[in-house]
Amino acid sequence: MRKEKRIVIIGLDGVPYRLLKGLAEKSVMPNTGSIIKEGIFRKLQSSIPEVSSVAWSSVITGANPGEHGIFGFMDLAPGTYRLRFPNFNDLKKPPFWNKIKGKSVIINVPSTYPVKELNGIHISGFISPRVEKSVYPATLLPELKELDYRVDVDSSKAHKSLELFLADLDKTLKARIRTFRWLWEEDWEIFMLVFTGTDRLMHFLWDAYEDKNHRYHQDFLSHFRQIDEVIGEVKSKISNQDSLIMLSDHGFEHLDKDIYINHLLRREGFLKLQDVREPTWSNIDHPTKAFALDPARIYLNLKNKYPRGAVEPEDKEGILRDLRSLFNSLEVDNKKVIRDVYRKEEIYSGLLLEQAPDLVLIGNKGFNLKATLKANKLADKGIFTGKHTQDDAFLLVKGYNITNVRENPTVSDVVDIMK
Ligand SMILES: [Zn+2]
Repeated sequence: MRKEKRIVIIGLDGVPYRLLKGLAEKSVMPNTGSIIKEGIFRKLQSSIPEVSSVAWSSVITGANPGEHGIFGFMDLAPGTYRLRFPNFNDLKKPPFWNKIKGKSVIINVPSTYPVKELNGIHISGFISPRVEKSVYPATLLPELKELDYRVDVDSSKAHKSLELFLADLDKTLKARIRTFRWLWEEDWEIFMLVFTGTDRLMHFLWDAYEDKNHRYHQDFLSHFRQIDEVIGEVKSKISNQDSLIMLSDHGFEHLDKDIYINHLLRREGFLKLQDVREPTWSNIDHPTKAFALDPARIYLNLKNKYPRGAVEPEDKEGILRDLRSLFNSLEVDNKKVIRDVYRKEEIYSGLLLEQAPDLVLIGNKGFNLKATLKANKLADKGIFTGKHTQDDAFLLVKGYNITNVRENPTVSDVVDIMK
């Protein structure tokens, strides 16, 4: 029997508020447009930092990184300078689907690999290295293979040819849509589907969105048109008792310059490498005071925390002050690079605060902050034309629970809307 009050959550990775608004008004996304008219449509604050692993972890747990423990795509293994990818096992707060009685279908939420047993179905999202650990129950694997399901577009194709990339992106999207239609027929109370191709498309082809005469402008729109058709399908299949929550995890904008924070820290003497010809993490030298992990998380090289830690507890505040003034005064092309410098205590709370970066930076318009050790200059421009933004993700809610939407919602508030 049909259950009452079902919830459908559609995630559009990286889609900014104003892009969705624009495409809805221009009839590229008419179904989304009609939902905007009926529902509540607001800007959504992303996590800090504004990356998918952190933001989606907050969306599904309702917690901040100080509680759920996901601070970025990469971390250092405790007590080492060895990089590791935190995964779903590192998430210290339960996702919402562990807290409801009914069944869930969860498709392609980033950072939910490896899958765990749940009451329902779960196909994990980026990064999912082994297909056998990406699907619960594993009995679905043959059918998914039949549908040619893939977790992510092969972004390496974009480095060879944007045409190959777009073809692969389209294949990935179509397979995801086939999988959505198949699993929709299951019994569920909550259905969550995240489209992540939007983020990849906007990284490589943000300029194709902005420039109507761009060779790939129509391809860009076509991707969103196909997603809107799915939204139309969902809309026609749910009843007035149900709720539809659409959201993105962060926004996007034009990328002017990549800024390499570890290069800055090296140039200003905060970061030292044992051998500059080999800029690797195992090469961090003792006098290092601070280093950055992607995108712009600053860690003090504390004594007793890291193997070659050099910062004494009593020097901490002074170094944080020096770093803050360094970041606040940084200019490239006569423009201020850093919008905000946050101390961990300002943005996080919870039992895992100790593991948090000491500072987190948010870039000003156009500046894409990065933390590779390998950069040999402060500013550069790579293949990407779009970059993440922190303050203009979107939230669109239609249904019985619109009164649960806060005035200025953040990614951690989404779970509360489901109540
Ligand atoms: Zn991205």
